Amino acid sequence: MSYTIGIDLGGTTMTAGLVNEDYEIVGKITWATRLPRPAEDLEKAMADLCREVAKQNGVDFSEVRYVGIGTPGSVNFTTGFVGYNTNFNYYDWNLGTDLEALLGCKVYVENDANAAAFGEYIAGGAKGYKDAVVITLGTGIGSGIILDGKILRGFNFAAGEMGHTVIVKDGRKCNCGRHGCWERYASARALSEDTKAAMREHRDTIMWDLVKDIDHVNAKTSFDAMEKGDALAKQVVENWMEYVGCGIANVVNTFEPEVICIGGGVSNQGETLLGPVRAYVEKETHDITTGRVPEIRACVLRNDAGVIGAAALADSI
Ligand SMILES: [Zn+2]
Repeated sequence: MSYTIGIDLGGTTMTAGLVNEDYEIVGKITWATRLPRPAEDLEKAMADLCREVAKQNGVDFSEVRYVGIGTPGSVNFTTGFVGYNTNFNYYDWNLGTDLEALLGCKVYVENDANAAAFGEYIAGGAKGYKDAVVITLGTGIGSGIILDGKILRGFNFAAGEMGHTVIVKDGRKCNCGRHGCWERYASARALSEDTKAAMREHRDTIMWDLVKDIDHVNAKTSFDAMEKGDALAKQVVENWMEYVGCGIANVVNTFEPEVICIGGGVSNQGETLLGPVRAYVEKETHDITTGRVPEIRACVLRNDAGVIGAAALADSI
């Protein structure tokens, strides 16, 4: 048996998983990322984390074929160079080559959204399909496009940012500098914002009973209230789901993948979310897809997607 190690590097924690040839996590360890700290210091900790996860699972590090990392920021996959990572305040970070020197093995570095999407493709909800798009509804909208087994990266490694495709011209302002990006309408945060706005205008909704303090509103609030029969919540959720569906219809019309997986905490809503989104996408794409619409389903790997995808990066080229 040979192994690879995948690291999901986040601003708060970093998780390393030892992964076998069947893309199963044999063991994993999570450490605090402890930011802010110098990049050199973090690299040493990442190298220790890799050795530790192998050791704890009785595997000699020489049996590890390579280490893959999913990190926030703009990543040159070919060189392992992270141009900027605003979350970490690192610029011109030679993560790949530095870690290769520390570990003495091949290191692949990929953008975290792409790594997680690839995990879902190789071992999760999109397993067994040729083309897939993985959409994560969170603070923003993360997405990864995998065509014929390869991550679509673009000439400068910034492809697949579906969250920043505009669906409302001159719409809500986005962090990326544009207006009307999909993620400003269809992310989990957008749903929370819509929920708050609706609550401020209407005191007679049970959403006020559910959260009391408007700062405690999250993407689940309106779904919970809708389930209890709240008409305003239903309106908020349905409006938001149409935006989700609108962007997914764009994905279908552009790539026509066999499967689209939706992740993020809000995907726990299951068919309450997927059913209406599917219906909307089918209606919107009917004339183009002549009735055969890609499968739309929920992601299954949750937090493990990033680790497994990173550990499988050599297969994504
Ligand atoms: Zn944007």
